[in-house]
Amino acid sequence: MSINSDTPIQYLKGVGPKLGDVLSKRGISTIGDLLEWYPRAYEDRRALRNIASLEAGQVVSIVGRVTTVRSMNLGRTRRKMYEVVIADDSGRVSCKFFRVPYKGYFERFEVHTPVRVSGKVTFYRGRIEFHHPDVHPLGEDEENQDQLIPLYTETEGIRPGKLRSIIGMAIHKIIEEPEEKFKDPLPKWIKEKYQLCDRAQALKEIHCPPNHLGSEYLNFLSPAQKRLIFDEFFQLEMLMAANKVEVQKEQGFPMQKPSPRYKQLQKQLPFQLTSAQQNALKDILKDLCEIHPMHRLVQGDVGSGKTLVALLAAVYAADNDFQSCIMAPTEILAEQHYKNAQKFLTSIGLNVALLTGSMKAKEKEQVLLALEAGKIDLIIGTHALIQEGVDFHSLGLVIVDEQHRFGVEQRHKLKQKGGSPHFLVMTATPIPRTLAMTVYGDLDVSIIDELPPGRQPIVTRKVFENKRDKVFNFMCEQIEKGRQAYVVYPLVEESENMDLKNAIEEVENLKSTYPQVHFGLLHGKMKAQEKEEVMRSFRDHHLDVLVATTVIEVGVDVPNANMIIIEHSERFGLSQLHQLRGRVGRGEHKSYCVLVLSYASSEESKQRAETMERFTDGFKIAEVDLEMRGPGEFLGRRQSGLTGFRLANLVRDVKILQNARNAAFEIFKKDPELKEPNHQALKSLLLHAKKQVLG
Ligand code: ADP
Ligand code: MG
Repeated sequence: MSINSDTPIQYLKGVGPKLGDVLSKRGISTIGDLLEWYPRAYEDRRALRNIASLEAGQVVSIVGRVTTVRSMNLGRTRRKMYEVVIADDSGRVSCKFFRVPYKGYFERFEVHTPVRVSGKVTFYRGRIEFHHPDVHPLGEDEENQDQLIPLYTETEGIRPGKLRSIIGMAIHKIIEEPEEKFKDPLPKWIKEKYQLCDRAQALKEIHCPPNHLGSEYLNFLSPAQKRLIFDEFFQLEMLMAANKVEVQKEQGFPMQKPSPRYKQLQKQLPFQLTSAQQNALKDILKDLCEIHPMHRLVQGDVGSGKTLVALLAAVYAADNDFQSCIMAPTEILAEQHYKNAQKFLTSIGLNVALLTGSMKAKEKEQVLLALEAGKIDLIIGTHALIQEGVDFHSLGLVIVDEQHRFGVEQRHKLKQKGGSPHFLVMTATPIPRTLAMTVYGDLDVSIIDELPPGRQPIVTRKVFENKRDKVFNFMCEQIEKGRQAYVVYPLVEESENMDLKNAIEEVENLKSTYPQVHFGLLHGKMKAQEKEEVMRSFRDHHLDVLVATTVIEVGVDVPNANMIIIEHSERFGLSQLHQLRGRVGRGEHKSYCVLVLSYASSEESKQRAETMERFTDGFKIAEVDLEMRGPGEFLGRRQSGLTGFRLANLVRDVKILQNARNAAFEIFKKDPELKEPNHQALKSLLLHAKKQVLG
């Protein structure tokens, strides 16, 4: 038989059952998989430096001897840090690890072992150090005379030299000396248009970079890297383009009648819509008129007025004789929307109803009957809305608030309630534009990037923990004036119980220090019902201060609360801090956000606090966040399809991402079913991608 990318790795000489096992645990079972195990960096031997000359930000290699290997606990948590100190004739430098790369990693070297360290030089508390560099005992691959050495992710059970040799063999077998020619799935016109090299050549060069391209490789600008990065994005964008084709086949409910009450409501509002709101509505109305169902995301910072946009869309649907529903992630948010809807919609004659799990059976039944009879124009609720027994008369528009709590599955279930209704998602999680198009893929995006006029900016200050008393005294002054406040504690998963204990103790402390103040506690270990109760008493001002772990509901609106104190703010990411700050600044009172920092907090967390002091715009903050953390962390585990990139980086490679997206959409425009003969390879690529992303 002939050997190709799909051939099992066991066919390679030197891959026995044991190594095969190790590789398959890493998801590598074919020769093609092996070739896609890209180097995670390159060691540039031309850049060998001595320790005294290191400067922050450089990517370098040094050679020295180990003087210390040790581990220590990090702060009060149970997390560990590992340190390997290296010395050469000019000085010493510390290599820090916040996790163990693999079992036995640190056992590979003892004091005096000669090693080579490669990585990026970091500046931390006045000193130069490495974080998670590659550390190799010298001698493992001294035979290699090239100047640019690929470095692979360290894996237990495979020596780097061995890995390089089997990859070399794979390249030889299927690229250099193949029995059947290596097929490039990309059509020629795409490669020409976007100036991409052959995939075979790219696969070969990424593992064996030509020396003359040294600096291109270090900066991810070589033709091989560009092509393979393109391919990673392209796979995902193909899925999205294909999805779009599917969606456009769906028959929806076009709403083409004029809507008098839509105009009436706008006239009755005590304020003018912002132009960002108007633009979003323009997008939405245009979609609603189409025969294909709308799939649109409205993204807007907290307080930008998304709810009103949704309500206006529902009015428009009602005038077209369609029912709408709004799904909120919690009962309290559903109640909040319901109140708003009553305020704005009842006066123009819309019938609005609320449906939640905690309603009495009798009430529920009445609502359900009215809904099925078509007497309700807009129904607002929680997950209860997608349960069995909820039947609509003519569901035309589905609105989901705070999309990230809803899975694809739920979205699907709700759609099934009424053919293919129009679908509108609202989220307050700002994502930079460049990312939005990829994260939300098949959804069209409208961005509300403007706050209603007259909002008071929130005064944001970072303080160190020794100033806490002052901060709390200030809070008490605000409470005496009739205001309310939030105090937030972080919970770190691994030590959750300990942190919870600290938070509870802290509440007790606060209670005895400020006996005149009513404190309430909200934490993740409470039942949903209990949480809602506490939130309600805070909303209704039976409590002055809500002490909470991060579970404060996104989107909860308590305009009287004008202060938020975030304890251990160094433990929160920027986007989280911004979301938390959004709890205040919703009323007419001047609002305050205090970020309490521990003395031991890192340079980076101080930078985060300063970013918060400087910016109030969520999109700006999201951009900074993305730059500081990188897309993997930024998007979290939620978007698995996006963080699975091996080579591509959403910040660095935005240009390539745009090209890949354009290419995918162009192909589907030309050939929606991928029927052309030279698109057959793409078709199997698509099937493969579907399997990977959808499991
Ligand atoms: P979001 O859901 O985007 O966080 P909301 O829809 O809850 O924001 O709006 C926040 C507040 O601003 C609400 O009280 C709403 O009535 C008010 N609001 C909405 N649009 C405007 C506007 N154009 N001008 C003034 N106030 C507005
Ligand atoms: Mg909202």
